[in-house]
Amino acid sequence: MARIPEAVRFVYCRDCGAYRYQGGWNEGLESVEGTLREYLHMVLTVRMKPTEAVEEAWVESIELMQAFDGPGVYTALVTVAGRAGGQSLVERKIITVEASQALCPRCTARSTGRGFEAEVKVRSTAGSLGRDVKTGIARVLRRSRSIAGFVVKVDENREGLDIYLTDQTAARILAGKLRSEFSAEVKESYKLVGRQPSGRRKGRLTISVRIPEYRPGELISVEGRPHLYLGRSGRGLVTIDLDTGRERVVDTSRTGVLAGVKRYEPGARLRRMMLLSSSGDSMVFLDVDKGMQEVVDAPRGSVRSFVESMEPGRVYEVFIHGGRIYVLRETG
Ligand SMILES: [Zn+2]
Repeated sequence: MARIPEAVRFVYCRDCGAYRYQGGWNEGLESVEGTLREYLHMVLTVRMKPTEAVEEAWVESIELMQAFDGPGVYTALVTVAGRAGGQSLVERKIITVEASQALCPRCTARSTGRGFEAEVKVRSTAGSLGRDVKTGIARVLRRSRSIAGFVVKVDENREGLDIYLTDQTAARILAGKLRSEFSAEVKESYKLVGRQPSGRRKGRLTISVRIPEYRPGELISVEGRPHLYLGRSGRGLVTIDLDTGRERVVDTSRTGVLAGVKRYEPGARLRRMMLLSSSGDSMVFLDVDKGMQEVVDAPRGSVRSFVESMEPGRVYEVFIHGGRIYVLRETG
């Protein structure tokens, strides 16, 4: 009958209960739960899209499935009522509500005298943050009480996220969590912005967090040498060093290491090859771009495959390095 958003975000001020709407802040009601109900009613009404046949539709009721208990993810049962062709219709839908806390600008100004004291800039080696990483950061912000209460605002831009906090320790805790969760490289800088009433110098902390984002099976360059990216571990990036053919962990917690990690440009060494035959100890590949002049007969032990199965007649993206053939993915 009508489409409504499947998920709604609700951001409210932990100090005064104001809530965020369309980029601004509005006064809340007596209780946060009451504010949430009214907010949901408003957002769902504004964003509801009745289907063509429906003459009129409205949000009849909203029922939270759990008692409201601060930041977290909630489920709500929404009843939508309407009329079509002289008939009354009722439809129930389940939506997800993600409630999170922030500090509104007014409370920020009140508590610190002047906005934020720390900024965490999150960037990615891929140029922009991937969806998984964004979700992961939101999770870190939500789950950690020692961070969430100090976040003034989160600005999302093309390059990444700028997270503003009223507390420098909280900013360092956040950066530390991002480092361990995403093997990120972290750099701090400090800028003097004036003096406190006591005469002590007042500084603003900026922490740059650079998250390495690659696809498993992607070729990356570590200090100029080709590696195959497998994934992340708590200690860093798990790769295969293609010079040695061995798995290793590139420890990105060490300063400057991540600066030496880039996308690898394989150039002509990345080839599309068809597996012609696989028998006994021998695997025979044909370079499909060069035709019959390029047939590679390789001992099975020199072929490292990262695809689920290899079948004669199929074409694979292949990287030949150090006497080994790395089969990266099927190209169809
Ligand atoms: Zn407030």
